[in-house]
This record gives sequence, C-alpha cells and structure tokens, in this order.
Amino acid sequence: MTLHDDKARQALKILQNIFGYPSFRGGQAKVISNLLNLKDTLAIMPTGAGKSLCYQIPAQIFTGITIVISPLIALMKDQVDALWEYGIPVTYINSSLRKKELNERLQGIAGGRYKLIYVAPERLETDGFSQILSGVEVDFIAVDEAHCVSQWGHDFRPSYRRIAAFIKSLPKRPLVGAFTATATREIKDDIIKLLELKDPQVIVTGFDRKNLHYSVLRGEDKQEFVLDYLAAHKGKPGIIYAATRNDVEKISELLQENGIPCSKYHAGMRKAERTENQELFLQGELPVMVATNAFGMGIDKPDVRFVLHYSIPKNLESYYQEAGRAGRNGEPASCVLLFHPQDVIVQKYLIEQTVYSLRRKEHELKKLQMVVDYCHTSKCLRQTLLDYFGDEESRDYCGNCCNCLDDRIKVDVTLDAQKALSCVYRLQGCFGASMVAQILKGARTKRILQLKLDQLSTYGLMAEKELAEIRDFLHFLIAEGYLALTKGKFPVVKLTRKAVGVIKGQEKVERKMQAPKKEK
Ligand code: ADP
Ligand code: ZN
Repeated sequence: MTLHDDKARQALKILQNIFGYPSFRGGQAKVISNLLNLKDTLAIMPTGAGKSLCYQIPAQIFTGITIVISPLIALMKDQVDALWEYGIPVTYINSSLRKKELNERLQGIAGGRYKLIYVAPERLETDGFSQILSGVEVDFIAVDEAHCVSQWGHDFRPSYRRIAAFIKSLPKRPLVGAFTATATREIKDDIIKLLELKDPQVIVTGFDRKNLHYSVLRGEDKQEFVLDYLAAHKGKPGIIYAATRNDVEKISELLQENGIPCSKYHAGMRKAERTENQELFLQGELPVMVATNAFGMGIDKPDVRFVLHYSIPKNLESYYQEAGRAGRNGEPASCVLLFHPQDVIVQKYLIEQTVYSLRRKEHELKKLQMVVDYCHTSKCLRQTLLDYFGDEESRDYCGNCCNCLDDRIKVDVTLDAQKALSCVYRLQGCFGASMVAQILKGARTKRILQLKLDQLSTYGLMAEKELAEIRDFLHFLIAEGYLALTKGKFPVVKLTRKAVGVIKGQEKVERKMQAPKKEK
C-alpha cells in the first residue's frame, strides 16, 4: 500500500523541521507510512533504531490524541521534557504525580491541551483517566515495550494484559501500534493476540549492524586466546563477557597477572565498586571490562572495539544485545564468541536453577540450542542472526563474518555424515550427542558395555578421529539440520527428513575445513 504523497511529505517535513534529522533510518519510513495508512502495526526494531519517532511523528499528523503506553516511568519525564523542547504539547500520567498535578493534567486532557499523552499501564484503568478519555478523540494508541505483555519475555508486566480491555472501553477503537526490540515467535504471537491487534502488519527491521564483524571459534585454549587477542588489541576499549561471577574473577586475575589492566563487573560485587569500575571503563581509564551479563544495560560507550564472549550466552537475543555494544559509533568492531561444549552444560545448569515452569525451561533450552547451532553453522553468521529476528534484510552473504570470509576449502564430508547418521538411526533416537560420539569413537565405557552398544554395526565407525572432533561434527550436523535434538533437559539426537537423502546417497554434505594433511 502506498501512502498519500502529502502525508508522506508531511512526515518527512516533521522529521526535518521539528526533529532536525535529514532522513528516515532503516524501517522508520515503512512503519510510519503503515500507521498513517491506519493499519495496526507491530514494529520490531532493535534498541537505538529509533522507535520513538515512529509514533511521535504520526501523533502530530493525526487530528486527535495519541496515547503512548510505556512501562518506563523513570524515563517519562525526560521524554516529555524533550518533546516540549521541540514544541510538541505533551504530558505524562504515572504514579509519581501528586494528586493536584494529576488533576491538572486530566483537566488539560479534557480541554484538548495535549497532542500526546504518555501513560503507565497501571494508570489506564484508574478513575478519572478512562472517564476523561470518553470525552475526547483518541486516534492512536502506541504500546511501547510491547513484549511486556508476554510471559515468554523477561519483563512480563501483568498490567499490560489489561491494555486490550482498555482499548475496547474507548468509544471508538483507535489505531494500535506495538513497538518492541525483542520478539521471538512466541512473543510476537502473544503481542498480536493479547493486545488484540487487528490484521496487523508486522515489520521487522534494522537489526543489521554492518560494521560489526562476527566470528565463532571452537576448540581454542581460551586463556591463551584471550591473552593473544588482547595483546593484538592493546589499549582498545573492549568487553569480555563470561558466564559466571567466578569466571569473571578468574579472567580478570589472569589479565592482571599478565600485565593487562582491566575492570570487572558482576552482581556479586558491592554497588559502589561496580559503579566505580563502570565509570573507569566508560571514561577509558581501564579500557577492558570483564563482566557477566549483569553489565551493559543502558551503557552507551560509542568506541567499544570488540566484545569477546569467553563462553556462550543463554540465547541469541542476549548475544545480539551484548555483542551489539561494540561499534556504536559505526566504526568497524569485532564480536568474537568462544565455544566449548562444557559451556553448554553451564548454561543448562543456569536454566535449571531458575524458578521457571517446566514449559518455560524447555523453551529456554531450545533457545540455548540455537546458540549452539550458531556456533556450528557454516552459513553466514549475520544472516543466521537476522533470520533469528526475522529481519527482512537477511541475505546469504555478508562478507563480514568468519564464515563468509572463510577461505578454507569445502570438503566433501558425505561419508562421515553417513556414518554418523546411520549410527543415530541404529540408536533409534534413544541417546544424546555425547553418547553417539562415544559409540562412533568406539569408547569402552561401562554404560556402553552394559547396554551392549559395542555390538552395533556402527560402533567404532569413526575410531580414527578424536572424540571432541566427532562431537563437533555431530553439532555441525545438528546446525545444518541433518540431525535434531529433542526438547528437555536430556535431549536425544534424532534424524531429520533432510538426513534421509544423505543416508540414501542422494545428497552430498560439504563442510569448510582445513584441507586434510597430505600423507608423506
Ligand atoms: P529506540 O526507542 O528504538 O531504542 P530511540 O527512539 O530512543 O530508539 O532513538 C535512538 C536515537 O536515535 C535517538 O537519539 C533519536 O533521536 C535518534 N534517531 C531516531 N531517528 C533518527 C533518524 N531518522 N536520523 C537520525 N537519528 C535518529
Ligand atoms: Zn557473513
């Protein structure tokens, strides 16, 4: 659908004349034009992409009032003050207001004094508010941080569940727009269902960070790698993320012992110390920060040159967000992820320790598996991330990740794949990846002997390879979709449809690898 030219022109004029930006950024124009065409819209854009303008601009074009529902009470005052600076008549309603202020604002709304009203979800149903709204024309409701409506997200807000009823209570149903930075399929479905969006257009955009170089390394000696990496990036600002507080302590000790000054940050430290370390990092006095995922919320240091994950994050959203702290200023920066099978066990343990329901835990495990797949795929890493978010811009080749730039030759691994797949077939989906690897290796563990698995025809089929190599290969087959893992705490390996062609010899499997060493 194309927008009436005059409305599009008006939107661009507001962007330029009021906000002072020359042009729209990735996705903004599309979201705004959709809204101006009065289509309910779910806009999924990463933090910093410029979601606010996507509702602030239409708000100025519509004749009636726009209500912005936001959970971020602490930020409302600043946002509203900033909009006044631009000359936009706006106010906010939340629990921080005294009775007198509240009443004045409600009167102002009734008197048509405001174009835009920010409101905390808890206030929607309070007396006064809905009553006043029944007497004015509400054209547009923008639900910010819309993922808060979903229990699958990390910031579920029960009050978001009442937004749909609030919208229904209005005399005329307004246009509804929902905005968020996180949306897995479950969250997206929840937003559409629970906010009762009408035939919404879902626009996912702006996730690509072209200046970031993504890479994954498996099988490195991590300590050695970190020391080498920091030596090669001496003096450059960077963040090293570790999975546990203990790891943070160990890594920062290692660095200090090797004469590399660094600061550290985790939730087990005193608040004052954390704040001080954060400041030292932000001001560039200690350019290297070693931290758990507790570090980084709201941190906007533009010149971070690398984000190194010492172990895998819990899901790809976290990865995108943490890695995304590199290169904010648009200059080239690197995002390196070190993979070790042991890390998967740590992450599983962390999921197990949560208070989540069984279903939620399974869900988290599935998301963790997607990180493991990311670490083993030979496809473009950027594409893998963009696909995960459903970004429309996804392409096959980015030219700026370790897989795209991998100039190793593609090796035909069909025979090995057939061996591994037929072993999984024989095991009838009863065992996990480590067990399959042990059987292929021909390991004589107690369990294997007890279960007489050494009598299988596929036992020891890959005896000439290292166990770790076989396990890595199985993960490659999982990442490429030839094998799948079942849900739950102890996932077992199963064949997929895609495996059938390989077993039957109809399909080749290729993998980028170091060319095999020539025999002398
Ligand atoms: P989000 O809510 O998506 O995290 P914001 O709406 O806070 O992002 O915008 C992030 C920053 O980008 C703000 O400083 C905003 O003014 C700026 N910005 C938004 N749109 C544009 C644009 N078209 N051109 C330049 N800067 C923009
Ligand atoms: Zn790539």
